[in-house]
Amino acid sequence: MRRKLVAGNWKMHGLRAQLPEIEAIAAAAAANPSVDAALCVPYTLIHPAAQVAGVLPIGAQDLHEADKGAHTGCISAPMLVEEGATLTIVGHSERRGDQHETSHDAYMKSSAAHRHGLTVILCVGETQVERDAGRAERVVQAQIEKSLPDDAHGDWLTLAYEPRWAIGTGRTPTMEEIAAMHAIARAKLHQMIGDPALDVRILYGGSVTGANAGEILAVENVDGALVGGASLTADKFVPIIQAAKALSA
Ligand code: PEP
Repeated sequence: MRRKLVAGNWKMHGLRAQLPEIEAIAAAAAANPSVDAALCVPYTLIHPAAQVAGVLPIGAQDLHEADKGAHTGCISAPMLVEEGATLTIVGHSERRGDQHETSHDAYMKSSAAHRHGLTVILCVGETQVERDAGRAERVVQAQIEKSLPDDAHGDWLTLAYEPRWAIGTGRTPTMEEIAAMHAIARAKLHQMIGDPALDVRILYGGSVTGANAGEILAVENVDGALVGGASLTADKFVPIIQAAKALSA
C-alpha cells in the first residue's frame, strides 16, 4: 500500500516573513498523519523552515552532483543535510528548461542525494510540442530510463510526472491522460527494477489545486501530488493535503 505524498515546491518564492505559512502547513501535516506531506523551499529558507516545521520534512529543489569543488553558486547534498533538508527535487522541468539540465544530470544528482541520505522526487514530463507530435510516452519513458538511479527504491525515491505544459498554466491533462501516463511510468519502472517498482510512488504535478486534487489523486497509480503555486500558502495547500487524506482513510 503506497501512502499518498503531497509535496510543495516553493520555487524562487519565500522570505522569512513567510515562515508562519510553513508553520501553518506543518500544523496541518501533523493533524493529518495518514498522509505524507513535504515542502521544498529555496536554499535560504531550508534552515529556518526546518526549525519551525516539526514533523513536516523540508527539502531543496535541486543540488549539485559533487560533494564539494569549484562550482560557483552550487549547493551539495552534504550542505543541504547540514541545513536540515531531508529530501530534494531533482530534474524539475524548470531546471531542464532554464538550466538545460539533462536526464543524465538528474541521474547523477539523484545518486548524490541518496548517497547522503536525502530522499528524492525525480521529475519527468513532456512539452506541449512533444505531446502534439504524439511523442509524450516515448519522451517520458526515455527520461525515466536515463535519469533513474541504478539502485532506485521506493524507500527513498519518488517519481513525479509533470507535463511541462501543465505547470503554472492552470491547464491539466484529462484524468484518462493522467492514468495512461502513470501506467506507462509504472510499467517502465517495472521493466527497469522489477517488483520493487510497485513500491515507488508516482506523483502527478501541474496546476493541482484544492479544487481538482480529489479527482486527480483518485486516479489509479497517482500516489500524490507535486504542487507549485498552490503550495505557497496554507489556505491553498492544506485542502490538497485534506483531499489526499480523504482517499487514505
Ligand atoms: C511544479 O512546480 O512542480 C508545479 C507543478 O507547479 P504548479 O503546481 O504551479 O503547476
